[in-house]
Order: sequence, then C-alpha cells, then structure tokens
Amino acid sequence: MQSQKKYPQLFSFEFYPPKTEEGVKKLEIVHQQLAELNPDFFSVTFGAGGSTRDRTFDTVVKIQNKGISAAPHLSCVASTKENIRDILQAYKNNGISKIVALRGDLPSGMISAGEFRYANELVEFIREVTGDYFQIHVAGYPEVHPQAKNATEDLQNFKRKIDAGANAVITQYFYNVDAYFYFVDACERIGITVPIIPGIMPITNYSQLFRFSDMCGADIPRWMRKRLECFGDDRESIIAFGVDIISHLSQSLLDNGAPGLHFYTMNQSAPTLAIWNNLSLKK
Ligand code: FAD
Repeated sequence: MQSQKKYPQLFSFEFYPPKTEEGVKKLEIVHQQLAELNPDFFSVTFGAGGSTRDRTFDTVVKIQNKGISAAPHLSCVASTKENIRDILQAYKNNGISKIVALRGDLPSGMISAGEFRYANELVEFIREVTGDYFQIHVAGYPEVHPQAKNATEDLQNFKRKIDAGANAVITQYFYNVDAYFYFVDACERIGITVPIIPGIMPITNYSQLFRFSDMCGADIPRWMRKRLECFGDDRESIIAFGVDIISHLSQSLLDNGAPGLHFYTMNQSAPTLAIWNNLSLKK
C-alpha cells in the first residue's frame, strides 16, 4: 500500500448520459449540486458498441464547458480503429484530456465485429494515435473480473493496460475493504504503482444492486444481504443503511491510504452528498 500514499487524493463523480429531456434537466441539477464539492472531474459512461456515442459526447462537452473537467468513458468492443480515432479527435478538439478506457460488454447474443478485443489494445491505440495527450484511466477489479480464468491471470491482464500507458485506475465497486488493499498490494508486488482509486457505489435500490452485483462480480457480504432483505420495500431505511455503511467503507479506505474516491452516482446527488458529508476530508 506504500506506493498509493504518495498520491494526492482525487475525487470524481460518474454519470450516465441521460436518454430523455427530463433526464437531461435532472442531470443538470445533480451536476450543479455535486460541482459545489469541487471534485477533480466528472466522468460519463459510454454504451458498449457505441450506443450512447453522441449522448456521451454531448454530456461530456456540456459538463466540461461549465468549468470542472469531464472524462468520457470509451469502450472499444465492437469498434473499429477509424471510429475510435474519430471520437478521440472530437474530444481533443473540445479540450477534453482525460479518458476512461474500457473494453465494455456487448449485450448477450451480439457478436463483435470490431478491431479490439481487450482494453489494453485500446490504451495502446490511444497512445499510438494521440501520444501523451490523454490522461488515461482504466478499470481494476479488486474482487477479480467475472470472466477471468483466475485471479493471477486477471492481474497479469490488468498489468497489460498499465504497461500500455494507463496513468490511473478506477476500481469496480466492492463492499469488502480488504479486497481493495489486497489488490493494491498484489499490484505493487508486480510493479504497478499508478494511483488505484476505489469505486464507490451508494446503495439505493436493493434488487437492482443484487442484479447488478451478480453481473459485474461484486460480492455483497452475507451480513449486508441479510440486513437489506429485512428492509423489504422500505426505501428510506435501505438508503439510511447504505449511507451508513458506505460512509464507513469510504472513510476506512481514505484513512488507510486510498488515493481518493470515485462515486458511481447513478445520476442521483442525495446518496453521494450524504456519504460525502459524513467523511472527514482533507480537501
Ligand atoms: P479488460 O481489461 O479488457 O478485461 C476484460 C477481461 O478480459 C478480464 O477478464 C481480463 O482478465 C481479460 N483480459 C484482458 N486483457 C486480456 C488479454 N490481453 N488477453 C487475454 N485476456 C485478457 N462498461 C461500459 O460498457 N461502458 C462504460 O462506460 C463502463 N464504465 C466502467 C467504469 C469502471 C470504473 C469500471 C470498473 C467498469 C466500467 N464498465 C463500463 C464495465 C466494463 O466495460 C466491464 O467490466 C468489462 O467486462 C471489462 O472491461 P475492461 O476494460 O476492464 O476489460
């Protein structure tokens, strides 16, 4: 964990690009509320296969123009090099210099006809085409990527992205704090020293969280599951419980040397603000 302690703490908030006019308006308010916390950047997700290409672009440029930097996510699965080159150029033209580079997941049944197989190839391509222009973040998996053959290979594959030129890591969310610190130590042992920023998922909806966690390989500890089950449809209690445990998780990460936090806001400000207000931050 030593290598992480030398980095300044960075804080970021993730949005998805809204689909409707109503969603756009709601996000403007959420963005305004979270901008008051003066994060280092906002990031905006990208639908694999390019399904949100224009909406991601519009959201990113709009946020960036309001003063705090915005980082688009860019997933490469099912994309051609020409397509990715065009997207990078458009971001460069608009002064966007941070990017979250991902493989992405295709919807089941869809076959990829793209020119990239893994995120390390995307990182390599971004460096080939744009040199050092972009600050590149990649995804890390403290609890191991769900499709990985095993933890050792997953870590070696993860290192390919750093070796290809990634500058920083945002992790998949997790609720087992030890998984993060073990992952960071394992990275350090194989020479990975870039900042590894924990991804934080507030809890607001329990069936959605269970479904999503199954898909992305995030473990919900039994004690949390059992408590959440007791709340049934009582949303207020679920949120209060979530704020309480995620605040503890976040504080413990920071106290033990995590170089910041990345919040998966799900385009909602209240849970993130409540957690933030419970933290004692150096900012
Ligand atoms: P990779 O790093 O390519 O890894 C995927 C799998 O392939 C792993 O099992 C790995 O071990 C294996 N692997 C990697 N490289 C190699 C190689 N060279 N040879 C053999 N095996 C290899 N998805 C979206 O669609 N849009 C988003 O905006 C988005 N944002 C995200 C943000 C964060 C912070 C995180 C953590 C995830 C995000 N995702 C997003 C989800 C992500 O796309 C999925 O988790 C996807 O399954 C893997 O993406 P990756 O970039 O980690 O892939």
